[in-house]
Amino acid sequence: MKKDTSLFSLDRRRLGKMRKKLEEINALKAEMAALTDDALSRKTLEFKERLANGATIDDLLVEAFAVVREVDKRILGMFPFDVQVLGGIVLHQGNIAEMKTGEGKTLTATMPLYLNALEEKGAFLITNSEYLAIRDATEMRKVYEFLQLSVGIGVFDDPNRKVEVEEKRAIYHSDIIYTTNSALGFDYLIDNLATSSDKKYMRPFHYAIIDEADAVLLDMAQTPLVISGAPRVQPNLYAVSDEFVLSLEEETDYYLDRERKEVYLKKKGINEAKRYFSQKGLYTKGNKELVRHLNLALKAHTLFENGKDYVIHDEEVKLLDKGNGRILSGTKLQGGIHQAIEEKEKVKVTPEMRSMASITYQNLFLMFDTLAGMTGTGKTAEDELIETFNMEVVRIPTNKPVIRQDFPDRIYTTLPEKINATIQFVKQIHTTGQPILLVTGSVRMSELFSEILLLEGLPHSLLNAQSAAREAQMIAEAGQMNSITVATNMAGRGTDIKLGQGVKALGGLAVIGTERMASQRMDLQLRGRSGRQGEPGFSQFFVSFEDDLIMESGSKWAHRYFKKHKDARDDAIPKELKGYRYRRLFKKAQETSDAKGQSSRSNTLEFDESVKIQRELIYQERDNIIYNRNKDFNADFIVKKVIADFVTNEEISRDNVTRFILDNMTYGFTGFPNQLSFKEKEAVHQFLNELAQEILDKKRLYLTKDFVDLERNSVLKAIDECWVEEVDYLQQLRTVAVARQTAQRNPIYEYHQEAYQSFLTMKEDIYKLTFRHLLLSEVTYTKKNELQIYFV
Ligand code: ADP
Ligand code: MG
Repeated sequence: MKKDTSLFSLDRRRLGKMRKKLEEINALKAEMAALTDDALSRKTLEFKERLANGATIDDLLVEAFAVVREVDKRILGMFPFDVQVLGGIVLHQGNIAEMKTGEGKTLTATMPLYLNALEEKGAFLITNSEYLAIRDATEMRKVYEFLQLSVGIGVFDDPNRKVEVEEKRAIYHSDIIYTTNSALGFDYLIDNLATSSDKKYMRPFHYAIIDEADAVLLDMAQTPLVISGAPRVQPNLYAVSDEFVLSLEEETDYYLDRERKEVYLKKKGINEAKRYFSQKGLYTKGNKELVRHLNLALKAHTLFENGKDYVIHDEEVKLLDKGNGRILSGTKLQGGIHQAIEEKEKVKVTPEMRSMASITYQNLFLMFDTLAGMTGTGKTAEDELIETFNMEVVRIPTNKPVIRQDFPDRIYTTLPEKINATIQFVKQIHTTGQPILLVTGSVRMSELFSEILLLEGLPHSLLNAQSAAREAQMIAEAGQMNSITVATNMAGRGTDIKLGQGVKALGGLAVIGTERMASQRMDLQLRGRSGRQGEPGFSQFFVSFEDDLIMESGSKWAHRYFKKHKDARDDAIPKELKGYRYRRLFKKAQETSDAKGQSSRSNTLEFDESVKIQRELIYQERDNIIYNRNKDFNADFIVKKVIADFVTNEEISRDNVTRFILDNMTYGFTGFPNQLSFKEKEAVHQFLNELAQEILDKKRLYLTKDFVDLERNSVLKAIDECWVEEVDYLQQLRTVAVARQTAQRNPIYEYHQEAYQSFLTMKEDIYKLTFRHLLLSEVTYTKKNELQIYFV
């Protein structure tokens, strides 16, 4: 039996301190067991009183954990193991508990969630799939409800269900909320589009535990969440660009570097384009849009692959989650690339939407006072997690020693060799009846393996993005005797694979990986599907020089080696490569790939910095207005300021002033008094102020106490109109900056400069627009006596 020697010494020291707490918690076992149900459930009230009298939740940890443990036992029939209590303490401290698959993280979370919910500011459990959120909430809620806490679930079985504000508010004001990262992110953005306090539903973020933390915090965090609004108006050059690109050839017409995701037209390609579009020059001002579309079409054809990056589903291009191969619903690539792919696939090209609001997951989660996480695989990414989220990764020992065997990779030169070797191996294992989980890196590969198995007459189930709904159920059955399950790399993550009758004696679950994944963490996740809770099992990967990992992140010699040897290979007789040099190649390639992921995430974050600062200011300002906290934004102040700015900055002439009045103040302007001279700035200034006051006074008289509603709505509308423009502009600016970046420059600094300038402009625009809304809008009352404001 292999002993778990993986505990890092730092973790051991940390755990040492926690063990003292654990002992204290263990010492309360008998006392808690002796309490009646009533007395046990009344503990919540007692704890809250103590908090009110000055105790801290840290003071309550020992007792609260002991209480939840006892309730877990009474209600769910599961008494948290010592290692789960240790995990719970790590979660309370705002760190990441690394606990292997099957160790019971769902139950572990009940203790810190309860403790932190006692503060009555809300405690979240955030995971990466609706299925898991609903499943775990449904199972665990009985515990919290026994303890008189309320539970909300932020996602729904039916994703199209319309949820009213009241319902959302009830969910987000529950003591404990189970939800997904994307539901939380979208709800946050939508909450900040509300135009009055009765449309807002969120509370400030207090405490959250993120389940499958590395998937949520790292793998899903590469692209920001974006809410899209009105379509962008622009020429439709997608079709012609697509047609043109189809006529080009790699190397002669364009340069392609798959590894660095770079592609651009070479001289010959540019000349072709000039001829094709009958243009003298291509990189001229008037051809900006054409060049953009050509680049998009090139990218769509060379850097995005059907079945790997996206699938066509219901006649639409749907993106695939790199981590688990599932369809990312509601997400589109930004900056026109999605449309270019639609054109390439000849499905309907959707309008390119402007982004109205956006946030990165990193910045979303950083808003929590305390953020914690749990996952089976976090240690290898600890540096990044500390740097970005200030969370350490504490490895919790397993409840029982792990006896799974992880065999060294079997390495082949070509893809067909590898596939043949894999299938031979599958057949051999299958004759014994041992269940097999065959894992691929893409939907396309899972389909390919499924077809081959079918030809070989091997019954199996196929699990990929197309069958997301049944995923969990199917994967749960992957441990039955004789079963073969083909799945994309992290399909069904978070679902336990229990071994069927007699499988233990056969050696448990066999995990066979058909390629090493883009990150070491993903490989570890896969291996961990087998051998949970001290069960037997093994994992074995098959790899080749043709794998994406090597193609995209492998050393140069590997590419040369492949070119030289590929034709000499006989696919039917796979030849295994052995030796340190090959093993090291795959290890290195994976490290390179991991580093790329990390740098792309830090890039995303760096770009978001400007948006973040602006977003925080704008959201704060909106809230101040919604909750009437801002003295500056009243009608008189704004009117005076905008008029003063106009008089100072613009040329004062009869024409200009007339236009200013008609555009911004009133349509009913009848003319200037005779004695007004446009040479006297002060006189014009005074005249404009008086005119504005007159208009405002009329509205005040008519609206009486509702005048504040006009003020509020005018400002909010102005802010939103300008902010939508700004978000969209920053998004575009970002796309441009990223493109510049690949040309060996660091344009992030320039980006922040430009972003700041446009923020200053936006602020002025908000004042001007508010002014216009205040004066030029029309106000009436409906029959039901509700205020109606018409903005022009
Ligand atoms: P993880 O999320 O760590 O992979 P789960 O939370 O899905 O694991 O739990 C795996 C299984 O272990 C579940 O079937 C759960 O009911 C069971 N389990 C967890 N903790 C305990 C416990 N203390 N006693 C008995 N069974 C437990
Ligand atoms: Mg889990």
